[in-house]
Amino acid sequence: MAQLIDGKAIAAQVRGEIREAVSAWTALGHRPPCLRVLLVGDDPASASYVRGKQKAALEVGIDADTLTYESDISEAELLRIIDRLNRDAGVDGILVQLPLPAHIDEQKVIYALNPDKDVDCFHPANVGRIMIGEPRFLPCTPAGIMEMLRRTGIETRGARAVIVGRSNIVGKPMANLLLQKGVDATVTVCHSRTRDLPAITRQADLLVAAIGRAHFITADMVREGAAVIDVGINRVEDASRPRGYRLAGDVDFDAVREKAGWITPVPGGVGPMTIAMLLQNTLKAARRS
Ligand code: NDP
Repeated sequence: MAQLIDGKAIAAQVRGEIREAVSAWTALGHRPPCLRVLLVGDDPASASYVRGKQKAALEVGIDADTLTYESDISEAELLRIIDRLNRDAGVDGILVQLPLPAHIDEQKVIYALNPDKDVDCFHPANVGRIMIGEPRFLPCTPAGIMEMLRRTGIETRGARAVIVGRSNIVGKPMANLLLQKGVDATVTVCHSRTRDLPAITRQADLLVAAIGRAHFITADMVREGAAVIDVGINRVEDASRPRGYRLAGDVDFDAVREKAGWITPVPGGVGPMTIAMLLQNTLKAARRS
């Protein structure tokens, strides 16, 4: 039976450390780190993520606020708002909650962010810096996973890591962090065109699932004793829940936990770590400015 990696508890520990660091920072006479979150439209999942981020930021002493806009805001107007925040010396971190409505070019918006305030670490300048091992910020979800691995004592040096998913938000930056010198995993990245996926995932000492399909990773795809990190957040219909759904990961948790050595739950695994890393990036941005 796998040991549970309690992301919720580890994230609480990290947030406690950040809270202390923010107090030490303001005790030196600096203003609190300042984060502005931009939320466009009324997607309930996005609104819920943003609420979670703002609440967590306020709790550690970050001056956090969410600027909300109607879904019909023009791309030009959104770019103007970002430009204003970019130039505002009182703002350290800017986060644009994705996805954006279809008429707004997400790439254009990401490129418009001042890389020094890009606390999500999506700007190409920041992505490139990770690639060459000179990060300014760390991408929140992969960095949260790295922190969980470190604090749990899971060895990455020389480990075979298999990542399923190649998105710019999770899969690719995860591969980059695992490849860094000192982390030293041997990394394979899989995607929807990968041939014989189970044969590859079965080789993993460390398996990261970032697919977006509930229960996709089944027990037969997992090596005995492997560390399994479940990034997926999927809504699964469940009439017994007041909302009519529950959250499920990309891993068939009940079956895989019988075989794995370590496993993260959903919810309470990677999700809380992602938010903790956002707070860490915001503090870093404040210190840099
Ligand atoms: P994307 O949809 O951008 O990427 C999904 C990836 O999975 C793609 O690379 C895709 O391959 C691959 N894939 C899809 N189907 C298959 C298949 N049958 N076999 C192998 N690979 C497949 O998703 P994200 O990376 O943004 O997110 C993944 C999941 O993680 C989602 O559930 C999301 O909600 C969650 N998430 C959770 C976060 C957290 O904090 N816990 C943060 C961010 C995301 P291809 O490229 O070929 O299409």
